Amino acid sequence: MSKNILVLPGDGIGQEIVTEAVKVLACLRDDYGLDIEMDEALIGGTAYDAAGHPLPEATLNLAREADAVLLGAVGGPKWEPLDISVRPEKGLLGIRKELGLFANLRPAILYPQLADASTLRPEVVSGLDIMIVRELTGGIYFGQPRGVRVLENGEKEGFNTLIYKESEVDRIVRVAMDIAMKRNKRVCSVDKANVLECTEMWREVAVKVGADYPEVELSHMYVDNAAMQLVRAPKQFDVMVTTNMFGDILSDCASMLTGSIGMLPSASLDENGKGMYEPIHGSAPDIAGQGVANPLATILSVAMMLRYSLDEDAMADRVEQAVNKTLDQGLRTPDIYSEGTRKVGTEAMGDAVVAALRAG
Ligand code: NAD
Repeated sequence: MSKNILVLPGDGIGQEIVTEAVKVLACLRDDYGLDIEMDEALIGGTAYDAAGHPLPEATLNLAREADAVLLGAVGGPKWEPLDISVRPEKGLLGIRKELGLFANLRPAILYPQLADASTLRPEVVSGLDIMIVRELTGGIYFGQPRGVRVLENGEKEGFNTLIYKESEVDRIVRVAMDIAMKRNKRVCSVDKANVLECTEMWREVAVKVGADYPEVELSHMYVDNAAMQLVRAPKQFDVMVTTNMFGDILSDCASMLTGSIGMLPSASLDENGKGMYEPIHGSAPDIAGQGVANPLATILSVAMMLRYSLDEDAMADRVEQAVNKTLDQGLRTPDIYSEGTRKVGTEAMGDAVVAALRAG
């Protein structure tokens, strides 16, 4: 039976980069027999403009029915003045929560062709291949109570709640362990167990889950040290697993080790392997509409979709090889350009990947 993919371009460069990723999916369908159907719907500011809400009910219903979702990015200055309840980013948090996408997988891979693009010395980052597994639907970003209250003396006090159930920790650590089993069998669980009771419990649960995976070497690290180690000696890590907020920060830090935010894909999975796939970057309003955005993170998100939701590992390999071949040919969007390479725009980069895919 054919698989249904919902395409959500979103805002800003989202539209441009998703167009290229859809070309890749269409090529796999037409040339390699990938059995898929694609639908498109609105999310983010574009959805707010058209339907008055960043996550219209129609989009949510299509997303619930789909086997996988491909998202571009949401947000932009146009919608910043809106009330927080209808800002584009609310659409993104909403779809993650509604679909139960609790596991965010963010690989940080350094392509050898781009070793010069990193701000770190090549010997520190060459060969880098880390998978960061971030909890996505719990923790301080969702914990109640939250808000800002006015104290008796008139001073304001802001507060948020870091909260995790054992079951939430258990399931995310298991995802990390399962991934490690297919990689180098090492998991580093990142917490702040010396200060925060909630993450002390996180560590206890991680140890319990670890006992079910005797082949995996489980270590623990405080988040401040993890941030330092990521820039000092990042290759020591294989899989990292951590809370929503720590993962948010550490994965952005890890992304810069690889040179460009325009190269990194991500997957957000539910309990059954259904997922939403998106580049880790935002809608880049500063370059939107110029045709210069790097589409490779979105195309590599398609590869993750093939691997994690569609069970098409061979097709995923094909897409990753086509990206590699395109980089070998010296094509670069401006964000990854260096002397001696050929600067191209979004569409030319997408076309080159499709051509490489066709060439097999
Ligand atoms: P951003 O990721 O959009 O851009 C940061 C910088 O990276 C910019 O200079 C941008 O030009 C560059 N960049 C990003 N993607 C690129 C690509 N594919 N190719 C080349 N260069 C690229 O982050 P920001 O500027 O902080 O946020 C802009 C908007 O995006 C905001 O409204 C923010 O809320 C939203 N945002 C959305 C998501 C998402 O949809 N998942 C994630 C982060 C930010």
